[in-house]
Amino acid sequence: MRIHNVLPSAALSDPGREYRASEPGVPLRCCLRKSLAGEPVWLFRHSPSVGKGPYSEVGPIFTHVDCPDTPSLDRLPVELLNNPRILRSYNAAGQIHDGEVVEPGSFDRTIAGLFNNPAIEAIQVRSLSHGCFFFAVTRS
Ligand SMILES: [Zn+2]
Repeated sequence: MRIHNVLPSAALSDPGREYRASEPGVPLRCCLRKSLAGEPVWLFRHSPSVGKGPYSEVGPIFTHVDCPDTPSLDRLPVELLNNPRILRSYNAAGQIHDGEVVEPGSFDRTIAGLFNNPAIEAIQVRSLSHGCFFFAVTRS
């Protein structure tokens, strides 16, 4: 699988972005981990590229202002998967194919199962409580 993160430069396209000098514990979409105290972050509106047309959504996400890390994009980020998450699958046209709640420990197996279906092109991983987009997954 291939993980798709969001670079901090994406924040620059939102004129309403907010700078936070320290916002510990928020899920960072750049390096795919939780923020630490004293790390400046952006909070901004983002539309994941996976959903298209009527399925294109905009929601709030955090990234570093200057990301110090290079995440591994060939395996799931464990620090963002320690709670149940929503997995939304999309077809090649960017329409939602299905959605399901997945418990920690079941992500790899569930994603592999979804990609056994040739109609599924990409998966969005989202927060269960807030619905926020975390990252996307495609076949490698
Ligand atoms: Zn980062």
